Amino acid sequence: MIDEGATYMLSPHEERWRNERLARVMKWQAAMPYKSFIDDRQIQALLEDNTQPETKETLAVIEKARANTPKGIMLAPRDVAVLANTKDPELWEALFETADWIKQKVYGNRIVLFAPLYVSSPCVNNCAYCGFRHGNRSIRTRTLSMDEIEQEIKALVDVGHKRLIVVYGEHPSSDYRYMCKSIQKVYATRNGTGEIRRVNINAAPLFTDEYEEVHSVGIGTYQVFQETYHYDTYRRVHPSNTLKGQYLWRLFGLHRALEGGIDDVAIGVLFGLYDWRYELLGLLCHAMSLEKEFGIGPHTISYPRMVSALSTPLTTTSPYLVNNKNFAKIVAIVRLMCPYTGSILTARETPPLRREIIRKGGVSQMDAGTRIAVGGYAEMKREHIPEKEQFQITDTRSLDDFIYDLCENGYLPSFCTAGYREGRTGANFMPLAKHATVKNFCIANGILTFKEYLLDYASPKTREIGTTVIIPTYLRWLNEHVPVLASRVRKHLKDEEENQRDLHF
Ligand code: SF4
Repeated sequence: MIDEGATYMLSPHEERWRNERLARVMKWQAAMPYKSFIDDRQIQALLEDNTQPETKETLAVIEKARANTPKGIMLAPRDVAVLANTKDPELWEALFETADWIKQKVYGNRIVLFAPLYVSSPCVNNCAYCGFRHGNRSIRTRTLSMDEIEQEIKALVDVGHKRLIVVYGEHPSSDYRYMCKSIQKVYATRNGTGEIRRVNINAAPLFTDEYEEVHSVGIGTYQVFQETYHYDTYRRVHPSNTLKGQYLWRLFGLHRALEGGIDDVAIGVLFGLYDWRYELLGLLCHAMSLEKEFGIGPHTISYPRMVSALSTPLTTTSPYLVNNKNFAKIVAIVRLMCPYTGSILTARETPPLRREIIRKGGVSQMDAGTRIAVGGYAEMKREHIPEKEQFQITDTRSLDDFIYDLCENGYLPSFCTAGYREGRTGANFMPLAKHATVKNFCIANGILTFKEYLLDYASPKTREIGTTVIIPTYLRWLNEHVPVLASRVRKHLKDEEENQRDLHF
């Protein structure tokens, strides 16, 4: 499964960097202050003991998830094993309905929009499922210069984006110093009144002092996905002599991030590497460990599904590939098991499936207008540049088309970044999400940021539906639920028409 040997040749500079870092990583692992929270035998036993749950058991877990929501409590591992093994289609309908109910209860009917920005593809690792793995000679790798990052940001801002997830390979050309420089560049770039207001990161795990540096330039959430929590599978797809091959180093990557002062952290799994039921329990154990050690659960959970990548056979031959039916179940179970977390559904999935799963899974965040080729936004005209992409996405709609679709289905598109800038992060954010009051801010800020989009970037048809249907609908909601906030939002909407921007609560 692993692409070893002659094809995996690092340059002397890359090898030196990798080896030095690997030695430090090994040292950290040897003295690690934590004990692994993944108990393989316990997870397997839970799944085996609950292969045929009775209807009343599933209904009891669904009820428990509803009762947990206003208290911000997660389900227990056994509950997740019960849900994952539920087969009755009628029960699944009840589960989907509950996922949507939880999402409405915590966040309201808004969808937060972001764009992923791939700034570097060289990587010293050789993960069997990744188009950017070092041994894949079909990819033309590159690390964007600061000028190129500026071009990308201008293209993104030009269509209305306000939040990013910036993605880095693990390589000396994109180490934590480059990360800091690139984030500063993103924040400093303007295009007219447009700007990026929140930068989240998806990158390799760092040392605590490196996290401190990255934190100091004002990042939002730091994402490290374990890819698979199953030890044997992890070993099979990540060569042992690579940085990514160090399971425990990665497993506690976000514990170190929180030690280093990062406020929000995000977890995820690459579904398709191993049994999806096992991985759900892995995610839950991860969230429980973060809560236990720091009192802060994951800000978001992602569930990317393995999709085809250039010259990467595992992406189409893995025996654990997840079909659409099970994928919908995964998203809904994430919602029930961790009611307060943000839930991210990406453009890997097709437009019809995304449309279906937003509601069934209680999704709260989505990327839109996505291009994942390094340098791909400046080349907006091309939907795919396979030799520059880590994998292939299927939802290539423009941001405006995506937003119009959301509006047609009654959602409030939101570019809100206020939580981070108003200090509602980490330990300050959790009580709001856990007690389901964060939606008051979500809806108010969603309306204001959507109005900015309508004024500055929308096509005529999106402006029409946004102005006549969506904004009035959500203003009515605010009037009914938080009238004080509603009148302040009305005032700010007028201010926005007078060209004021970035008004938020
Ligand atoms: S998955 Fe990440 S670490 Fe692994 S080869 Fe790809 S970019 Fe590198």
